[in-house]
Amino acid sequence: MTKRIFNFNPGPSTIPLSVLEQAQSELLNYNNTGMSVIEISHRSKDFENIIFQAETRLKNLLNLDDNYRVLFLQGGASSQFSMIPQNLLTEGKQANYAITGSFAKKACEEANLFGTTHIAASSKDQNHNYIPLKDKFSLSENPAYLHITTNNTIYGTQYKEYPSFDNIPLIADMSSDILCKPIDGKQFALIYAGAQKNLGPSGVTIIVIRKDLLEISNKTIPTMQRYDIMADNNSLYNTPPTFSIYLLNLVLGWIENQGGITAIEDHNESKAKIIYDAIDNSNGFYMGHAVPEFRSTMNVTFTLQNSDLDKQFIAEASEKGIIGIKGHRSVGGMRASIYNAMTQEGCQALVDFMLSFQKNNK
Ligand code: PMP
Repeated sequence: MTKRIFNFNPGPSTIPLSVLEQAQSELLNYNNTGMSVIEISHRSKDFENIIFQAETRLKNLLNLDDNYRVLFLQGGASSQFSMIPQNLLTEGKQANYAITGSFAKKACEEANLFGTTHIAASSKDQNHNYIPLKDKFSLSENPAYLHITTNNTIYGTQYKEYPSFDNIPLIADMSSDILCKPIDGKQFALIYAGAQKNLGPSGVTIIVIRKDLLEISNKTIPTMQRYDIMADNNSLYNTPPTFSIYLLNLVLGWIENQGGITAIEDHNESKAKIIYDAIDNSNGFYMGHAVPEFRSTMNVTFTLQNSDLDKQFIAEASEKGIIGIKGHRSVGGMRASIYNAMTQEGCQALVDFMLSFQKNNK
């Protein structure tokens, strides 16, 4: 087997080796069909079983009951920025947004195309290095929903508690931290996530939606934008991204085999801790971007005190088989994306490299 490198890319990102091996082993003949899973019909029993199992697994892992449906759609999480207001921003109500980063801002801007928006909270004043607490939220008079971004991929911040308000549907973009820790999914009316970070490959976006929202959703928008039609057809109204859904289902099976979400959370915390410790114990050589209490366990953002060393840091890391750590330009410096599938070994390799780089460049 060719050597695998430590892939810290923010998405698409690393996928568990056992999942890739399983996909490889059954690529030419899926379940004795004599065909690849890419070649089977989306209307076949084999594919129906895959999509049904993926929905069931996701509902279990998010602690949801039968009041919820899971949809598997295309267009990325970005398409949800407009689908949500089209379906759920009703006349006379306002779409409320917490602006905690670039994707939250984009989501709000899209909603502006379809109705009235209201900024309920923002962390822009400190370049999004924190998450506003619930008592800092101020909702509009008649909110259709409140939208939050549970993990801010670019800035490396993450909600530790969710700001839920009585009778206001809470909608969450969980693209970069879905299934990273146990949550009670029932506090959300809608959750969405592009799959390419914690769920597997790009090409599919999952939408978890409470059934009452399907009933009140707008019926006068284009068919492909309608949540109710996608749900009535079990995400098979048209041809879904079959291979992505198949791989996503394998990743969900892998999560179960790890010991479920609690085991995943322990793993994630221990991975994040060693990197944050390396930052905190560096005497300012490395500086974390996020305020410690809102640090993400998924995207660790930090800058080098001497930014002239950035290029050298990235080049030398790459020689050690560590890639994908260049930060987004809005923060600069570095970002290590350590989603569920990143191993402890990978995080330790990064920490070892950070320590030796510091020693050699003091
Ligand atoms: N939301 C968040 C939090 C993200 O991190 C991203 C992508 N990195 C998106 C939305 C956009 O996702 P997509 O590329 O699937 O449209």
